[in-house]
Amino acid sequence: MNKEVKNEIKKRRTFAIISHPDAGKTTLTEKFLLYGGVINQAGSVKGKATSKHAVSDWMEIEKERGISVTSSVLQFNYDDFCINILDTPGHQDFSEDTYRTLMAADSAVMVIDASKGVEAQTRKLFKVCTMRNIPIFTFINKMDREAMDTFELLDDIENELGIATCPVNWPIGSGKGFRGVYDRNEKEVELFFDTKKGTTQGEMKKLKISDPEINSYIGEDQLQNLEDDIELQDGAGAGFDQEMVSNGKLSPVFFGSALTNFGVETFLKHFLKMTQAPLPRMSDAGEIDPMEEEEFSAFVFKIQANMNKAHRDRIAFMRICSGQFKAGMDATHIQGGKKVRLSQPQQMMASERKMVEEAYGGDIIGIFDPGIFAIGDTLTTKAQGFAYEGIPTFAPEHFARVRQVDTMKRKQFVKGITQIAQEGGIQIFQEANGGMEEIIVGVVGTLQFDVLRYRLENEYKVEIRLENLPYSFIRWIDNEEIDLASLSGTSDMKKVTDLKGRPLVLFVNEWSIRLTTERNEGLKLSEFAR
Ligand code: GDP
Repeated sequence: MNKEVKNEIKKRRTFAIISHPDAGKTTLTEKFLLYGGVINQAGSVKGKATSKHAVSDWMEIEKERGISVTSSVLQFNYDDFCINILDTPGHQDFSEDTYRTLMAADSAVMVIDASKGVEAQTRKLFKVCTMRNIPIFTFINKMDREAMDTFELLDDIENELGIATCPVNWPIGSGKGFRGVYDRNEKEVELFFDTKKGTTQGEMKKLKISDPEINSYIGEDQLQNLEDDIELQDGAGAGFDQEMVSNGKLSPVFFGSALTNFGVETFLKHFLKMTQAPLPRMSDAGEIDPMEEEEFSAFVFKIQANMNKAHRDRIAFMRICSGQFKAGMDATHIQGGKKVRLSQPQQMMASERKMVEEAYGGDIIGIFDPGIFAIGDTLTTKAQGFAYEGIPTFAPEHFARVRQVDTMKRKQFVKGITQIAQEGGIQIFQEANGGMEEIIVGVVGTLQFDVLRYRLENEYKVEIRLENLPYSFIRWIDNEEIDLASLSGTSDMKKVTDLKGRPLVLFVNEWSIRLTTERNEGLKLSEFAR
């Protein structure tokens, strides 16, 4: 295998940052970029106050509500590593997109607010990470504020998320009494100094725990507490085990304060050592290992249209899994069965898009999509093509009937709603035997209804009316011999078909699902389409 390509891939670290909104993900990301030399001063990336969410500027909804609805990718170099951060929208309504983004990552950094512990959204995202057994690193943030007890925080992670923890460092106090962190390995204390709200890289002072100078920074009581805590932790906690970390069974934990830029570089350094270079991925031809497979291969994990109003474009984001990518190269689109030219490749850089000439296994690129790609599709230059394992879809839990206000605009309506469905944010269904006049839309989070309405109006000039429907459960019918029309169930269920004509039923509650299964012998229902 080409040595240079292999070395480039070895340098890649591709990870996602997950957290509950407001835990400090954006602030932490920004500090990473500061160390990567991408920005010179913190506060310039995407402060909510300045609404500099340029990557997603295309959507006014974001600005109006001050939330981030799209995931973006940031790339930078640090210490001989080439880092790709997959930023994920924190708002719960956008979990579908976030889930898919996690499929493109090799590891995850979980940011937790030290005063709150594990929160709802962290729990959800964490589940997706464990589905893939990717390594999970914990950064407990906001130590400059009053925090929960350290043991309680660790217990919370272990109990709520079911993963063992191994604190790499240990906090000394919190809030006004925050003095720094103790490195358990080096037996050193990294002292905390406020760094003008973290806008600069800050002062770094480390002292051995045995150094008498430490007494001029940390009070006797606090030192005694630290010693007691460490003794307790050494005796009871799990030791560090790289294999368990790699399998996602043990999460190394770090403490710090992203805002004041404390503990961030320490975290980054350790994290980069403990996380892995791009991992092998499963395909229908077996495992594809980026360290062995010479040919280029990638899979699409996200499609986004109209990111830039000036150019009505549609971009397919893909994760490169092996080999080298060169702008304008040809590759086989496996699902389409055709060779395609990969043109206008771009990468997201903080607030701007830039063209890329080359990229390697581990990188994320966006490719111009003439409307042929779907989520989960594989592209490769390998002669004997193969397809990467699909990306799981998540069952919609909210449904609404959509009607267009001006029936003269039918074509536009159908085109718009179909395209938006292809991007994967919504799923659309038709009444069994019905046409496209009325469409039923299913979403994972209800904010997607607003996004749908907004986009149809702004991008396709179609006004719609949405009527909420009472269904919460979706089940496809797996048996081919069962006819939807003759299916007997409960009066409140709804029979529909998906875009591919596959029959399914929407249910109001689980009781109704059970009854329907009982009434139709041999009926096989599943939450996901095959
Ligand atoms: P996100 O929603 O997870 O991206 O959170 P942000 O990074 O936007 O942070 C949410 C709020 O918490 C902002 O007002 C930040 O300034 C603040 N914040 C972030 N990190 C820290 C920290 O370490 N200490 C304190 N005191 N505030 C923080």
